Amino acid sequence: MTPRTEPCKIGNWFGKPYFHFSDYLRDTYRCRVLKLPINANLSCPNRGAMNSGCIFCSEDGSASPGIGGRTSIPEQMESARKNFKRIDAGTRFIAYFQAYTNTYAPPAQLKRLYDQAVRQRDVIGLMIGTRPDCLPDQTLDLIASYQKDGFELWLEIGMQTIHDKSLEFLRRGHSSSATMNAVERAVRKNIPVCVHLILGITGEDWKEMMDTADALSQMPVRGVKFHHLHVIQGTQLEKLFRAGEVKPLSQREYVSILCDFIERLPSSILIHRLMGDREESTLVAPRWSLNKGTVIKAIEDEFARRGTFQGFLYNEGRGSIDG
Ligand code: SF4
Repeated sequence: MTPRTEPCKIGNWFGKPYFHFSDYLRDTYRCRVLKLPINANLSCPNRGAMNSGCIFCSEDGSASPGIGGRTSIPEQMESARKNFKRIDAGTRFIAYFQAYTNTYAPPAQLKRLYDQAVRQRDVIGLMIGTRPDCLPDQTLDLIASYQKDGFELWLEIGMQTIHDKSLEFLRRGHSSSATMNAVERAVRKNIPVCVHLILGITGEDWKEMMDTADALSQMPVRGVKFHHLHVIQGTQLEKLFRAGEVKPLSQREYVSILCDFIERLPSSILIHRLMGDREESTLVAPRWSLNKGTVIKAIEDEFARRGTFQGFLYNEGRGSIDG
């Protein structure tokens, strides 16, 4: 389904300087569309006896706070609905397989799980979060089979950065070329891809982050989710932080780098998320992210101060115009 209205006047998407996913959804479906997070208990090839997992990953597999894996998928979705303060009669939902690696099982098992979720009432979409090295062709074929008009299908791939040295620091257990390969193969099967990125990875400087922006601007992705490097209780990152080896970005640094990054992206890429999110009780640092509304306002104020917007520095075919 395509948006009913032309979403973009140059530099202005529904009053914002970037093309946000929630605005796209409202414009396309003419109603509120909310995500229902799911923990399908699929674990992850990067965790277990041989691997200790990504250094930022929490026990719950980087899931939204409060989603449980002990109840069935319909029960989790029902409970997630009840957590929203307001649900109108017209509200629709996307089943969001969020926790751990949601392609880490044989396709037949995955099909049972995905089918169960999309059969729930008022579900108009399916979003599947995974790693780039866990996407065999058969699984991509299965995911592609959910594509149909009027249905919102997304594959979320953890990219984090273009730099292999940073992926090693994060102990991701895959290379940047694995991400490129996964994205290419998914897009060839007509699956819309959203990549997850982390800004402020220890050891990455501004230029390296902008290299990731330029690389991303040339990739066939349709969406991006931004996170800042944040420290969660009980993670390997917490140990490094307590040892003084990790210094998270300040709010001012993050806002500035994020705006620099978004200026380099094509105007067609949907921004699914502008920053990481974590509940107060498990967040170690930085604490500024607890005031999400303030940070979003600071991002919009920064674009207004600069007089720029998403795509301002994008130069088709060559990356950013100052790169
Ligand atoms: S790939 Fe995802 S679930 Fe697996 S260890 Fe990394 S963040 Fe956690």
